[in-house]
Order: sequence, then C-alpha cells, then structure tokens
Amino acid sequence: MSQKLAILSVYDKTGLLDLAKGLEKQNVRILASGGTAKLIRDSGIKVEDVSAITNAPEMLGGRVKTLHPAVHGGILARNLESDENDLADQKIQKVDYVVCNLYPFKDTIAKPNVTVPEAVEEIDIGGVTLLRAAAKNHTRVTILSDPQDYGHFLSELEKGEISEQSRQQYALKAFTHTADYDTAISGYFRNQYAGNGVQQLALRYGANPHQKPASAYVKEGKLPFTVLSGSPGYINLLDSLNAYPLVKELKQSLGLSAAASFKHVSPAGAAVGITLDETERKVYMVDDIDGIENSGLAQAYARARGADRMSSFGDVIALSDKVDVPTAKIISREVSDGVIAPAYEPEALEILKKKKGGKYLVLQIDETYEPPQQETRTVYGVSLTQGRNDVQITPGNTFKSVVRPEGGAKLSEQTLQDLTVATIALKYTQSNSVCYAYKGQVVGLGAGQQSRIHCTRLAGDKADNWWMRFHERTLNIKWKKGVKRPDKSNAIDMLCSGQVPPKSQFEVEDYEAKFEEVPQPFSPEEREAWLSKLQGVVVSSDAFFPFVDNVYRAGRSGVKYIAAPTGSQNDGAVFDTCDKLGIVFIEQSTRLFHH
Ligand code: 5GP
Repeated sequence: MSQKLAILSVYDKTGLLDLAKGLEKQNVRILASGGTAKLIRDSGIKVEDVSAITNAPEMLGGRVKTLHPAVHGGILARNLESDENDLADQKIQKVDYVVCNLYPFKDTIAKPNVTVPEAVEEIDIGGVTLLRAAAKNHTRVTILSDPQDYGHFLSELEKGEISEQSRQQYALKAFTHTADYDTAISGYFRNQYAGNGVQQLALRYGANPHQKPASAYVKEGKLPFTVLSGSPGYINLLDSLNAYPLVKELKQSLGLSAAASFKHVSPAGAAVGITLDETERKVYMVDDIDGIENSGLAQAYARARGADRMSSFGDVIALSDKVDVPTAKIISREVSDGVIAPAYEPEALEILKKKKGGKYLVLQIDETYEPPQQETRTVYGVSLTQGRNDVQITPGNTFKSVVRPEGGAKLSEQTLQDLTVATIALKYTQSNSVCYAYKGQVVGLGAGQQSRIHCTRLAGDKADNWWMRFHERTLNIKWKKGVKRPDKSNAIDMLCSGQVPPKSQFEVEDYEAKFEEVPQPFSPEEREAWLSKLQGVVVSSDAFFPFVDNVYRAGRSGVKYIAAPTGSQNDGAVFDTCDKLGIVFIEQSTRLFHH
C-alpha cells in the first residue's frame, strides 16, 4: 500500500505536535506550511515543506502558501481512472488527510482601532480552500479543522482506516467553520463599506442598555427602511417591523387606510379609516384636528390610538399610506417614540421631525419590499428557523365557515370588516392573544397571556373601559386647567375601569387633583346598564377556546360574533354556549400564534 499523505496548515497549533507524532508513527508522509512545518521540525518530527510538492516557494508574505494544483489536485482527485490519469500526468500524489484551521479574523476585528488593511491581512485564503476542497472530497479525504478531533482521528488511524461516519462529521465541521468565517468577514465589510443605514444600521444597544453591541442588518440588498429622522432602538425596530406588515395587510384586505399603535411588540390598537362621528372624535381627543374628516389615515390613527390611550403612551406607529398633515398633527401632540410609513408629505415630515426636540424617530419603509420566505432567529445560541406566516386574512375567504347557529348566518360587511381587523391584529400580537373589535378598530386586545381566559378577560376589560369612555359622565369631565393629555388618559382609565382610589388612600389626592369637578365613580349598576348598550362586537382568538368561560366572558362585552380555530375537546360545549348566548361562531381555521 502506498504511503499516505497529510497536509498540515494550522493557525491554532494546539495539539499539533501530538498529532504529528501520531501521523509519523503510522508512517504518514507529512507536508506542512511555513510556521506549522517549523514547529513540527523543531520538535524533531520528520516534516517536509509544502514546496516539496509544489516546487514553488511560499510567496507574497504568506498570502500564497498552499494554493497550488499539486496540493488541490491531490486533495480533490477521486478514485476515478480519469482523475488517476490526470494526477499521473502531472506527477501529483493523492492527499489523504488535511489538517487546517484559519487565521483568527474574529479576534483581529474585535481589537480596538483595528484598520481595514490589518483586518484584510487576516482573511485566510488558502486555508479556506484547503478546508473546502478536502470537505468536498470527504468520501476519500479526511479533513480535520478542530484540534479536539485529533485524538479520535489518531485512534481510528491506529486501527487502519478513518471511518466514513467520521469523515462526514469532519466535513460538516469544516464547512461550518468556513461559513462562520465568511459570515464574520461579510459582517465586517458590511460595517465598513455598506454605509450605516444602507445594508446595516448600528443601534445604541439591544433590548436593554447593557446589551451591546447591537445592530440591524440584511444579508443581501438594502435594509427595507430608511431613517428620515431620529435614531431607532432595538425595540423600536421590533415594533416597527411587526407593525408595518399589520397595516399593509389591513389595507390590502380591506382597501382602507390603516394604522397601528404598537407597544412592546404587540398592538395597543389597530384600525382602518372609517369616518369618526362627533362623539368618537371627542373620546379619541381629536375633535380639534383640522382636516381630519378628509383623511382616512388620520381617522385610522385616531381610532388605533383611541382604543387604549393609556397603553399607547410612547407607542411606535405604523401607517399604511403617505402621511398627511392631519395625521402628523395628531401624532405631534401625543407621547410617541416613532412612526413608520411608506411616504410623507413634506409638510407632515417637517411637523414630525420637530417632535421630541428633533429626536422623534421617522422611518420610511419600502412598500414593495417582500421579506424572504424563511425567517431565522437565535435564542440562547440556538438558531430557530421557520417559514414566514404569510397566510392571507381576507373578509371574503377567512370567515366562510359559520358553525353556529346551525344553518349559518349572514355576516354583514361591517362584521366581516371587524373580524378581519381583529384577526390581522392577532397575527402580529404576542400569544396567547384575543382581540375584540368594533367599527373597524381594535377595542380590546389581550396579548402575551399564558392562559386564554386571562387573555379573553384582559381584552374584554379593555373593551369595557373603551366603551365606558363613551358614557356621558366621562365625556363631560371638567378638567383642571393645564392637565396634560397623558394624565387625562390615565385618570379616565381609572374612572372607566373602576379603579378610582378609595378616599382612605393617599392616591386619591393625586387623582382628584386632575379635575375641576371630581366625577362620581360608576356604580356597578351604572356600569352594567351602560355596558349592556354595547352590541355587535366581534372577537377573534389566535387559537381555539379550551373552555366555555371564554365565551361567557366575551358575551358580557356585547360580543355577537366569535371567530376562532376549532380542535378543542370542548368545541361542542363552546358551540352550545354560543347558541345559548346568541353568539355566531365562525370557524377561522388558521392558528395564529406569534412570538
Ligand atoms: P503557517 O503557520 O503554517 O505558516 O500558516 C498556517 C495558516 O495559513 C493556516 O491558518 C492556514 O489556513 C493558512 N494558509 C494555508 N495556505 C494558505 C495560502 O495559500 N494563503 C493564505 N493566505 N493562507 C494560507
């Protein structure tokens, strides 16, 4: 049997000498690149320079060491007659084992103030070629890229052959090593050459200030948004990039302008631009906005922000259309962190740019952008990948299956619209999620609850609060002069949710200080009487209802239509409870978990 041949070229020289000793013991011919050869030779083990087969010296200061047909022909040749003939013609010996690990590119770029030329010198060329060539030909060649594998390799070598399984595992490791290496290089070049905000965007920090460094990037092409003003944070982008597809889909499905108000990666509100009546304008605190009656977008945002004004404090706003002046005016006086929209009228942009002392975040999204089908993220070092949730929710197709009442029911256009709003909102809400909607807008949304009934209650309580805001006592509150909008929203929330502090508590002073005339808290009877006037609300759930308590709770907030997936053991009981309460149950067959 002819003598086996190994080529060694390693930056990390851990375990190298033991490996070389083991190879020598098995009578393997060892060739090595400059530094690797020197170390082996100095320790008295027989080694030849790679130039022994290339007949070419290392050159260009080490840039070219192993890049030669004598090396790569020897590695890539198969056990085919034609390959054997080629090798024989060129007097090239087959290589059996390649040992290689790469220059420390990641360590180099992690050093402070490293220059581009310094980083470039650490880009390994020949090593990557050795790894890829040997890994490609792993049916014959063994590629070792991790010093941890030397021991196992030698133990197999002593027994005679390197097993097929080991060669496969080593090849996988080698390709992973080169892929990781190239990712580090492309990341570095993206930072250096792509221009901040083009393919990548440096962020001040991640979810929390101590989570550094942080950035947003796409691997190909350009980021789908540009920063027109301000500087986005990590959570701002999570909100923006969840909120925008929500409004884009609402617009596509319903043909109306759409808006969403996001907080902590779930909507506090979402709506389409249905005309606001006078009372709604008052409740949503937009009765003094000029031109709002002619702007579907402004009305959509007034509704989105109006659903749960307290939760929308400091929101990220997504808008489906070019932002006009009335919309910008509404935004300009609310506490908000940023806005994402496909375009801005110049005057509207000027208004927004002035907000927060010029720090208000304004993002422009490319509305033609289509994200890749496959999405990946890393959790605790593990990459999770899935097909994007691209299911389309439309009034015409999603709500066809009326399960109860038996024999079906005709759903009005408004009901279908509300079901669409609620269900698209859920698609972008952290699960569990349940959404109540009415007149083209979310009126109560429960997000991120571990139990569905807690979610249904939370969303139902929010819907109740929203409706209590239409009570004339709330509408006629006399505020002390100078009370700010967020303080009004907080006080209204306390009044409407039955959280008015008892007289015995210090808090009452603070609460009452907001009013010229302190409104009487709602008695349980008053609440019940007013809540009973709310009718025709729809509910959508991102998964099936496991128990009938959800239906009972929904029924208490004027719900007349429920859309949810089925599949629970309790489906029958859920349907029967709907019948009992006169609720129409529509099977919405797609589960919509979102995390
Ligand atoms: P040595 O210490 O043996 O001089 O160099 C070992 C390093 O050189 C290894 O990290 C290996 O990946 C790299 N290397 C091997 N061949 C080439 C080549 O032809 N060009 C370059 N730039 N690097 C190589």
